[in-house]
Amino acid sequence: MPSSLCEAIQNSAESLEFQKNDDWITSGRMGSREAVLVFRTNILNPKTRKNLSESYSSPVLSQSRSNMEETIVCRKGEHDISSLSLPSCSNDALSGSKQRKIYVSIRNSVNINQTSDFQSTAKKINKQYSSSDASMSSEGEEPTQNIKNKFRELKKNPNEKITDLAEAVRKESGYDSTTPTKSITNISASEEDECVTEDDEECGIVMPAYKLKITYKFIQTETKLLRKIFDVHGLREVEGDNNFNLLWTGVHMKLDILRNLAPYQRVNHFPRSYELTRKDRLYKNIERMQHLRGMKHFDIVPQSFILPLESRDLIIAHNKHRGPWIVKPAASSRGRGIFIVNSPDQIPQDEQVLVSKYIVDPLCIDGHKCDLRVYVLVTSFDPLIIYLYKEGIVRLATVRYDRHADNLWNPCMHLCNYSINKYHSDYIRSSDAQDEDVGHKWTLSALLRHLKMQGCDTHQLMLNIEDLIIKAILACAQTIISACRMFVPNGNNCFELYGFDILIDNALKPWLLEANLSPSMGVDSPLDTKVKACLIADLLTCVGIPAYSPEMRSHYDSKWSRFRSSSCQRNLNVPSGPHKVKKNKKKGSVSTDLTGEEQRILRNARLQYSRRGGFERIFPTDDSMQRYGNFLDSTNGIPISTPNVQGQTFQTLIMQHNYNQMLHSNLYCHDTSDIDNNLEKNRIKQYERALETGSEIPFVKKPAVEKSEEEGRRQRKLMIKKIGTGSELTQFQARQTFSLYLESVLRRLTQDPRDNHEKIILKFLNKFGGSVKPPVLFRNTQSIKVISKARSAMVAKLLGDFLENYKRDTEAYVDSFDHFGMIPSSAYNQFLTHAQESDLEAVLTLHTNVTGIMPFLYNRCGLSVPPTPPIPSGLHGFLRALPSMVSSSGIAREVSKYDGYFRNIDKDYENVQDISIRPRSSRRF
Ligand code: ADP
Repeated sequence: MPSSLCEAIQNSAESLEFQKNDDWITSGRMGSREAVLVFRTNILNPKTRKNLSESYSSPVLSQSRSNMEETIVCRKGEHDISSLSLPSCSNDALSGSKQRKIYVSIRNSVNINQTSDFQSTAKKINKQYSSSDASMSSEGEEPTQNIKNKFRELKKNPNEKITDLAEAVRKESGYDSTTPTKSITNISASEEDECVTEDDEECGIVMPAYKLKITYKFIQTETKLLRKIFDVHGLREVEGDNNFNLLWTGVHMKLDILRNLAPYQRVNHFPRSYELTRKDRLYKNIERMQHLRGMKHFDIVPQSFILPLESRDLIIAHNKHRGPWIVKPAASSRGRGIFIVNSPDQIPQDEQVLVSKYIVDPLCIDGHKCDLRVYVLVTSFDPLIIYLYKEGIVRLATVRYDRHADNLWNPCMHLCNYSINKYHSDYIRSSDAQDEDVGHKWTLSALLRHLKMQGCDTHQLMLNIEDLIIKAILACAQTIISACRMFVPNGNNCFELYGFDILIDNALKPWLLEANLSPSMGVDSPLDTKVKACLIADLLTCVGIPAYSPEMRSHYDSKWSRFRSSSCQRNLNVPSGPHKVKKNKKKGSVSTDLTGEEQRILRNARLQYSRRGGFERIFPTDDSMQRYGNFLDSTNGIPISTPNVQGQTFQTLIMQHNYNQMLHSNLYCHDTSDIDNNLEKNRIKQYERALETGSEIPFVKKPAVEKSEEEGRRQRKLMIKKIGTGSELTQFQARQTFSLYLESVLRRLTQDPRDNHEKIILKFLNKFGGSVKPPVLFRNTQSIKVISKARSAMVAKLLGDFLENYKRDTEAYVDSFDHFGMIPSSAYNQFLTHAQESDLEAVLTLHTNVTGIMPFLYNRCGLSVPPTPPIPSGLHGFLRALPSMVSSSGIAREVSKYDGYFRNIDKDYENVQDISIRPRSSRRF
């Protein structure tokens, strides 16, 4: 070992001396290649941290203080050091270890420089209003306290005059006399809230990860739960560069990021994962296996067709075994755009959709259809290593199931998505993490216990679910392995957590509906929080985030590349068939007749298994070669899913190994702990056990946004003055206002299903839903004929989807400069902070009437912009005029064919009152 490396390790070890006996690092000594971080859910509990800080002993304190001096250089705020001793954690493999911890919290440690930057303020505000989104699942970020304070400090301009025009509008509109809406807005009504603890600024700055400067980076994803878990464990977020230890993205990986990964870096996707996660690709891959290996082995998905390509096949199938059919956009999620039809002629012919046989006899709990979300972790495709998390989530439809064709329109009866059912006023959330079989979300273990009580064979059910998962992955693996070979430089760089959606029919046969690329980590109840927090902690520990300090990295980079290049030089004499396995005297030791790379793979697999926590390894198991060996290439062990390449594949030519065979032989051909623990009966039993957590994982509802009614009114007057004196809203401001306004409408729809604004919203969406990306199209026209809570839920869901896309599009309009003639951003943001529905409506109405433009709907270059309609005065006047602000031509042409129902509604608008105030100019675009 080079002396500088020794020094680096020694320094790091010294700086961590006060922690050297603990187990926040596992699988190896600090500084060893195998050492990885440990994650636990216990330290999410602020109460635990507080209690333990009181018993913190001073010698450790002084030691830790001195150790911290170096690392806390750019942080501001008070440091409050506390000790933390942890009760047992959810991670079985790690329980029983010494758990005395030192913990530091930094409060108010917001980076002040950031907030002074105007652009970042605008972004924050944008995020603020995003975070109050009632429909987005995750990506919002709460505004920091500093930003809020900053806005409060902003001074009002006392010199502005009220113009006659503005005054007239204000008086006439009657907004001042509007009964104020609630002064506290709790946004949490309708989404998986992103809230975990009250003290979001706490960071585990003396955790080993902090000392080692371990970093994470988010790309197009963020959930508070993930961020919180990273932060309390001392990981720090980086932006911009590729100097991360862990990259967590909500989208597919860019190939150039993959190509340049260092050995210690981890990313949460494999290349070409879409083979598994795009519905159309998944079905095609499985269909190929059905042809290649026989239907009886791969009968795991409902019969499906991709339209318009396979329209004829669908009609033939329909003539054989009648519908109903479920129609899904090829690349969408969360129940968006799904509808059910009785016959193929009800499906639009011009779009790419996946049409699947509708399973009419689903398993029901107390009469409600349900489906499963299970979490599948793949840590490697070659060799294939698959884990299934022992706990999953069961989602129930809100309306009792009735297979009669008249009910096919009802999404709250036929679809189990939370994102649909949460809008139904009868939807019940369990309020206690221990209540696993209450309301419309259960745990998998609770379902299994329930089924067992009814005499069902839950053991076989779980075996079938494991089998389904393995087969789906085998069907897609070949392409992913090729991509890994091409783009991923190191064996451990990638891991992936898939969310498998499974429907069980009433004969207890599981059907795979889809595999989700980035399963939602949003939480809407204490139960959700418990399952997902344990899942993430166990996932990170199992995958293994290497515990490298930056000083160590450069040494290991070069050492590893040498190691890797030598280990990749295959010993051409290594037999390609079953491996010779040397009987090991020492449990878990590595056979010496393996190549360097094989030894590394075997050692990693064993270490990973020992850190698996709540994950059950379902491939390889002792009988996996017996069960699935036929689906693997006999030479290289790669799952084969294309008929013409067997025995002469690209991989065969260059791969002189069979890692699957090697791993299986070494793990299961002699006595090791792996066999003992991974026996089928032990494994399957785990799925019935409820998750145990050492301490309560707090779930805090999204904090209510405190709005001062008085301040809101004052701000509104200011804005009305400004607009009256000739100032205009920028497109960004107008869109922000419009989305906040629609959010209020959405809340009313959800809270009061009898509200007749549903029709207006439907009419608006019918015309304008096609303008956002991806379009929100309204398909199931039958559904709107029956007035019911389910219809209200459906309209709310559509509006929620529209809002989500509209807000995402709005991000493109963020403007960092104040322009002449426009309202300054800071003043406007202050207005938005306190505005209630009536304030937003007043400003939108005035602005539209005075300027004659609708920047919340169209940009200035927009073609075929309809003339601005006069907005009637009075409460909800803006809403009533909304559908007539949108033309039924252009963007809406796509959806206007579904417009039949709305012709009647048009009559409602004929008597729309004219307003006495005419547009300032007759500008049109
Ligand atoms: P998404 O990705 O949009 O959530 P899914 O494929 O998971 O789409 O389907 C959404 C819901 O529709 C599921 O929760 C399930 O209840 C129902 N569903 C989907 N496919 C079928 C099917 N073939 N038969 C019966 N119900 C289905």
